[in-house]
Formats: sequence, structure tokens, C-alpha cells
Amino acid sequence: MNIFSRLPEIGTTIFSVMSKLALEHQAINLSQGFPDFPVSEKLIDSIYQKMRDGHNQYAPMPGVPALRKIIGDIVYKTYRHPVNSETEVTITAGGTEAIFASIAGLIHPGDEVILFDPSYDSYDPAIRLNGGIPVHLNLSPPDFSIDWAEVKKKITRQTRMIMVNTPHNPAGSVLSSSDLKELEHLAEEHDLIVLSDEVYERIIFENKTHESVLKYPNLAARSIAVFSFGKTFHATGWKVGYTIASEIITREIRKAHQFITFSVNTPVQLALAEYMADAENYLHLGKFYQQKRDFLLEQIKGTSLNPLPCYGSYFQLLSYEGVSTKTDVEMASWMTKEMKLAPIPVSAFYKDRSDHKLLRFCFAKNEDTLRKAGEILKKI
Ligand code: GLN
Repeated sequence: MNIFSRLPEIGTTIFSVMSKLALEHQAINLSQGFPDFPVSEKLIDSIYQKMRDGHNQYAPMPGVPALRKIIGDIVYKTYRHPVNSETEVTITAGGTEAIFASIAGLIHPGDEVILFDPSYDSYDPAIRLNGGIPVHLNLSPPDFSIDWAEVKKKITRQTRMIMVNTPHNPAGSVLSSSDLKELEHLAEEHDLIVLSDEVYERIIFENKTHESVLKYPNLAARSIAVFSFGKTFHATGWKVGYTIASEIITREIRKAHQFITFSVNTPVQLALAEYMADAENYLHLGKFYQQKRDFLLEQIKGTSLNPLPCYGSYFQLLSYEGVSTKTDVEMASWMTKEMKLAPIPVSAFYKDRSDHKLLRFCFAKNEDTLRKAGEILKKI
């Protein structure tokens, strides 16, 4: 039988590959991004209670109304963007499904989608599986800034969408308000939809403020903002996220969402709705993670590994240029097998596999884990 693969060159995602390798070699796993500390007991008890109370059947297709309502209230409080929770909020199976459903609902075969590399590894295949044409633009270390004049040159009559990500995985960079104004201008001029991955919205450092597309009314009107509870409440395994978009855009996202997954699990949605009512449960995340970033940086002080600036997300990039001429893939594999510490090679986030001799380390970990990782890094 002949199988004509739709994604012939795609293997298993780098996150699964590196986590598996870490497990096989009993290495400390700073590769795949997930916290190693517990979720709030209160939230877990509340989910259990919801199940006990019989909330175990399908949720409404766009999400539980109470959860959509509180999300709308919080978005207004945070970004001053008024949200109609009935027509503009959709609960999805994590950020990844939010991105997929947005593309599936809005991209026609032959539409071009501009995206910036390094980029999260689901973006490009999601575009291609839906018949779109990904147009990659490389960003470079150390600051991974966007040259908007270059972006303008990539826009053609077929361009339909532009994807951005702030705070950025894996770079740890953040977009500034002038970036957002440039984006708004380009999107309006060329009638583009903006897909904005903001899953690390609350993990931002140095008193910077997160520049959401929702803060800019003309941009918000043509954007889909994607968020994730997994990142905010340390529960990546629950796979619950959401999109905020205008009614006409949301209608198309939901047409796809209802046939991808129909709806998202009910008890978690109900418990999250209650838990989010207390802002103390999410307001201090930036400070919490900045301490972890600084703790990791403290560990590697005086080594030949060079940390790149990190203003958000829970990833720190380290350059090993002064240490080895290995490729980043070889270096990540060697570090995992021989040194028992697993990172992600940053070339995995570039379509053309650009190798800047950078490794990504996840610092969403207990101090004990980070201390052990630091001891290993000191030996490199
Ligand atoms: N977003 C996480 C990361 O960048 C991993 C998600 C996944 O494993 N699919 O590491």
C-alpha cells in the first residue's frame, strides 16, 4: 500500500524526542516546557468536586459560559478590550488546538501565512495541513527583533495571515508597543488576519508589560489572541486554552473547533471559572518566574556559557559558542547522554535548521532541580 504522507519530512516533535531521551538516560529534563512543581490543591479539589457533582458530560461547544464570562472580564481588566463572552471567546484543547482551529477555519488553499523563525513547531505543519503556504522569516540572536520593512517585502496578494508570538518561545524576547503599531499598520494596509500566540502573557519580567494585540483596537478587530491555562496554572497536561477574536472571526474558528474536538472537558472548565475569580491566583506569575530565571543564571555565572536576554516565557537560551564546535543537535544529545541534562536545540525551531549554537533550557522547575542543573552546567 502506498501512503502519500501529507508531512513527509516531519518526524516526532523535538519535545517528545528530548523528553524520551532524558528519561532513557535519567537526565534532568529541562527540554520540554512544563513545570515540575504541583498545581494548586484548591483547584484540584474543585475539579474533583465538579466531577462528584455530576458535571461529566459534554460542555457547550464554545466552552462553559461561566468560564467565558470571567475570561471576558479579566481581558477587559487587563487589556481594556471589551469582550462579548457569548460571541468572542472560545475554549480550546490547549493553545495548540486554538492555533490549529484558527488556521483551519480561516486559511484557504494557496493563502500565504507569514511567520517568524524560530517558531513553535506546530505553526508550519498546521498551515500546510490546511493547504496554506508558510512564508518563514528568520529572526536572529541575541534580540530576535523583527525588521518590519523586511516583513512588508514578503507580503503578496496571496498573504492572508501573519503569526506572532510574545513573550516568545524559545527566544524569551517580547514585542514592544512600537512593534504592535507596525503590525497594526501592515495588517490594516494589506487586510491581514493576525494570529497572536500569547500563551506566556503573564510570564514577563523586568517590569515590562505584555503587549497584547487586544490592547490596540484596530489590531484587536482583525486578530485572534491565543491563551493557555496550562502555562498560567502550572497544568500543561490539562490541555485547556482559549481564543479571543471578533464575532465574525470567532464564527469561523468555531466551525473548525466543533469538528476537531467539539468541546473541552467540563469539570476543569467549571473549576477554572471559580479559581480565576481570585486575581491572587494569577497576578504574581511574572515575579515567581523571574526568581527562577535569576536562580538559574546565578548557577551559571562564571562559566563559558553565555545567557541571552530573556524578558518572558519560562525558557532561557544559552550560547555554547565559546565551549564547543558541535552542532546544537549534537550538543543537546551529548549533554543529555553524557552530562545527564536535557535541553532543546534551537535549530529545531527554524525551518532551515539555522544553527546559532544555542540551547533552550526550561526553568519552570523547583530550585532543587535548577541547582542540580547548574552543577552540571558548571562542568561544561
Ligand atoms: N510548549 C512546550 C515547549 O515549548 C511543549 C509542548 C509540547 O510538548 N507539545 O516545550
